[in-house]
Amino acid sequence: AFLNTIQQVDSKIKAFMTVEADKALEQARAVDAKRKSGAPLGAFAGVPIAIKDVLCTKGTRTSCSSKILENFVPPYDATVVTRLREADAVIIGKTNMDEFAMGSSTENSAYFTTRNPWDLDRIPGGSSGGSAACVAACEVPVSLGTDTGGSIRQPAALCGIVGIKPTYGRVSRYGLIAFASSLDQVGPFTHDLMDNALLMEIISGRDPKDSTSIDTPVPKYTQSLNTPIKDLTIGVPKEFFGEGLDSEVEASVKAALKEYEKQGAKLKEVSLPHSKYAVAVYYLVATAEASSNLARFEGMHYGYRTPTKGDLVSTYSKTRGEGFGKEVQRRIMLGTYALSAEARSDYYLKALKVRRLIKNDFDVAFKECDVVIGPTSPCAAFKMGEKTENPLAMYLNDIYTISCNLAGIAGISIPCGFTKNKLPIGLQILAGPFEEEKMFRVARMYE
Ligand code: GLN
Repeated sequence: AFLNTIQQVDSKIKAFMTVEADKALEQARAVDAKRKSGAPLGAFAGVPIAIKDVLCTKGTRTSCSSKILENFVPPYDATVVTRLREADAVIIGKTNMDEFAMGSSTENSAYFTTRNPWDLDRIPGGSSGGSAACVAACEVPVSLGTDTGGSIRQPAALCGIVGIKPTYGRVSRYGLIAFASSLDQVGPFTHDLMDNALLMEIISGRDPKDSTSIDTPVPKYTQSLNTPIKDLTIGVPKEFFGEGLDSEVEASVKAALKEYEKQGAKLKEVSLPHSKYAVAVYYLVATAEASSNLARFEGMHYGYRTPTKGDLVSTYSKTRGEGFGKEVQRRIMLGTYALSAEARSDYYLKALKVRRLIKNDFDVAFKECDVVIGPTSPCAAFKMGEKTENPLAMYLNDIYTISCNLAGIAGISIPCGFTKNKLPIGLQILAGPFEEEKMFRVARMYE
């Protein structure tokens, strides 16, 4: 049924880079045979799932929506994919994204732009735009994305679904093609919190193949989900309601906060004084790490290689010049500069110090409140092409999501109403490290 929907609507939505119908049916039949044999089934038995094209899938092309990996077929699965297969899920295809997860609209895909199912002239958000759009359009019930500075929460908000950015270290990054290793996390897109909680149970936990994954028990999120938090204190950061916030988004978020108050929650104004530096810090840290991570794409080991014959250095530079898109090249140059001998202490090292201050702000806030709530994105889905000529305007779209990644904490976006134009609005709930359980329960109180 889902394959039929994909066939009917994906020529309009363009969420998928790759759909492997035969392989999906084969997996589904294998699960069905297992069911008939009476063998115990996994928690996601037979459920189709789409995977962002930045996560390695054995035997299935993984392009990062880049020309440089156009024909790259990984010889192994990312750990999250392995865990999904073990849970008997059916991998149905790979989704479109901003090239190497750099962007907020999927317009940086080297192939095509995914459309927002609520309005086809608008972007679905990004960088996990394909994963968000395919769930919103009911092409699949659930999907996986990645979030380095908002790439799960922002498209979830713009497409009217649920998306979580887990605590750094909660989910294995093994087999996730790295953008910024100290910020990247994998997380699920779903229609509701129960599905999201279940998927988090499947993908979370220590993985010996990722030394940054943490060995703490994974709570049964699904079991506690329906228990509201008593004496809930919600931090409302004044910096998240300033200039640049669309008035309709503001009104919806404030209405949601009222709803929490009605349920007995206490609202407390908090301050995240260093969040004003978050975008600047992010574009130094993320680009620095990207410039290093993307050094591996040189046309020798795998991926695209320029057809122009030349010496080693010219082969490298032609390959990278032809294989990477404009935004990726811009970031490699920015990051290389930030790490250079002349700029390192003025930019990169300073950014690391301010990153610590941003984290400290949250530590202070979480001493007084259980969670911090605000908008996910300053505006609803914008028109295609509206921000492509102005990278800074595009970067500012992540103003509320980025500090969560810099601090390594958990964040979720859930739907909270619509604009007059019937575009979805997202509510962002942030919680301290490894407080996903509490975050889910707070989210459920509103859902
Ligand atoms: N939009 C941000 C960027 O362009 C965040 C992307 C992400 O989270 N992968 O880097």
